[in-house]
Amino acid sequence: MKSLWNDSTAHEWLARAANKQEQDLYLRIYTSRLLGSDESLVLHGGGNTSVKVKETNIFGVPDEILYVKGSGWDLATIERAGFAPVRMAHLLELAKLPQLTDMQMMNELKMCRINPQAPTPSVEAILHALIPFKFVDHTHADAILAITNTADGYARIQEIYGQDTVIVSYIMPGFDLAKKVAEQYAKEANARTIGIILMNHGVFSFADTAKESYERMIALVGRAEQYLQKHVSWHLPTTPEKSKHFAGNTLTIAEIRKTMAEIGGHPVIISNLNNPLTQAFIQHPNIEAMAQQGPVTPDHVIRTKRLPMLGRDVSKYCQQYTDYFTKHAASAKEKKTMLDPLPRVILDPEIGCYTVGKTAKEVMICADIYLQTMKTILRAESLGGYQSLDSADIFNVEYWDLEQAKIQKSASPPLFAGEIVVVTGAAAGIGKACVRAFLQRGAAVVGLDINNEVVELENRSDYLGIRCDITEEGEVIQAIQDTIKRFGGLDMLVLNAGIFPKSKKIVDLSRDELRQVMYVNMEANLTFMRECYPVLKLAPRGGRIVIIGSKNVTAPGPGAGAYSIAKAAVNQLMRVAALEWGKDNIRINTIHPNAVFDTKLWTKELLESRASNYGISVEEYKRKNILGVEVTSCDVSELAAELCGPYYAKMTGNQLYVDGGNERII
Ligand code: ZN
Repeated sequence: MKSLWNDSTAHEWLARAANKQEQDLYLRIYTSRLLGSDESLVLHGGGNTSVKVKETNIFGVPDEILYVKGSGWDLATIERAGFAPVRMAHLLELAKLPQLTDMQMMNELKMCRINPQAPTPSVEAILHALIPFKFVDHTHADAILAITNTADGYARIQEIYGQDTVIVSYIMPGFDLAKKVAEQYAKEANARTIGIILMNHGVFSFADTAKESYERMIALVGRAEQYLQKHVSWHLPTTPEKSKHFAGNTLTIAEIRKTMAEIGGHPVIISNLNNPLTQAFIQHPNIEAMAQQGPVTPDHVIRTKRLPMLGRDVSKYCQQYTDYFTKHAASAKEKKTMLDPLPRVILDPEIGCYTVGKTAKEVMICADIYLQTMKTILRAESLGGYQSLDSADIFNVEYWDLEQAKIQKSASPPLFAGEIVVVTGAAAGIGKACVRAFLQRGAAVVGLDINNEVVELENRSDYLGIRCDITEEGEVIQAIQDTIKRFGGLDMLVLNAGIFPKSKKIVDLSRDELRQVMYVNMEANLTFMRECYPVLKLAPRGGRIVIIGSKNVTAPGPGAGAYSIAKAAVNQLMRVAALEWGKDNIRINTIHPNAVFDTKLWTKELLESRASNYGISVEEYKRKNILGVEVTSCDVSELAAELCGPYYAKMTGNQLYVDGGNERII
């Protein structure tokens, strides 16, 4: 553990301050980000920091303000707006109350902000206020948790830190923790005290400068690391060479996903997390006992659930979760609403490690947290046996009033939350628009294209871009497997990829040219549909396929023989598939767009030459249809997405025209 403090970067942050008072705040942002950049210290919104600043209020009266991390902000990326300014006097007054419920406390914290637009202050704001130093840093450092989460953790912490920290036994975060820390600090702190260790929770450091408080954190965590090294518990085990590799049968995951949806009542995303660390963890001789303890710090329970699922029996896991809920809810003061009982982490000796969530983002966060969890458990296990808090303590955090309140307030999920779509020809035009339309509706999207640009099309956890030549069967099969590995299954398929060859009369059309067009526009789609079929059958809400056809199927034009033949063939394929796959609850329909000009195919020159053929302007040419409207990629993609939704749930084998109205078709 090394300090990342850099004087010149610190000066750059200082330079942003408008006045002297603001300088402390900007250094606070700088060192918060330093803490946030280290995954072994904090992860995804974990930890919090603060600084106490003297300001003059609107009446010209000096006031002391605590700037504390606001909820919803991440230390790694926090900005000035991420710190909630709260009146110190009010916080100190609150701390004198004998008791305060969580709801009352949050109400007070929100009320004593000096800026109503600021985020909700951290639940640990009162604790920050009570520590008599200007800067306070709080993390959930893995190295310290690896030591506190052992049977003799308390004694080990005493041995490591001696008089340098105050050690506080576990108590749930909130008002009671703040009071307990303040009491113990008043009694036990001395001139040497540079931090507080919260057993099974984390660590506080503090000082009068940002640099010193940060470096004390680094020093405290560093000492825990050295202790683990001295006790040969730092180095993580690697997979034994002879260990078997996890089976690659991706359909198994799609089957598990279907079962989870049946039990949980909504589709989920499941993502593969197999690597040497997860392999070593799963194959650890003591995996049962280690994995069935609980999280390393209670607030991870929201992301990972208390326990992972060992093996693949989803209903058994859910039953055990329901039992855990029923048992603890009975002794809770308020009525509790059970969260979905599905596991968030799967550890299976055959298929390996997977993380689960309602969205791809949740799955990614869970994966990051569980990777750190596995490291910490392995270290604690090596040190003297991993021992987590008991299930009642974990339940209290999982079913905290404040978390329960969030459930009541949460809006209904987007249309395709937890569902997965593959779009072919996704790098441009209609395909690219489809990627956006499905992302906007909450789906996880896999974009395929022969053009490498598809890989970088979107930079977000719910998008996977794969360069794929759909005419190569092997590449198609690989892409489907990669889709399942990343998201756990496949619910929807938009077959958009195709080529539009140069205009050619039949008398000039060679067999090779025809075959090439048939190969891409028809055969490749057949291969794709056939290979996706076993996975689409497992889609919790039924599989859905949308084929992007062409108005040429019904109203062909001279010179477009190869194209029209191939599109008509794929349309016929759609009709047969609708007949064959209806029993598997797979719906398949075609959209026939016409004259979509905002694609790569249509250059300015081409548009001008076509328009001049008709003796009209480009604008007139674009609107040459009954409604006189321009048809865009977006018009097509929005319909493609809606076709997969509930409004069209009872429609299959159908064809829809997006063309502004065409006399030949009508
Ligand atoms: Zn904490």
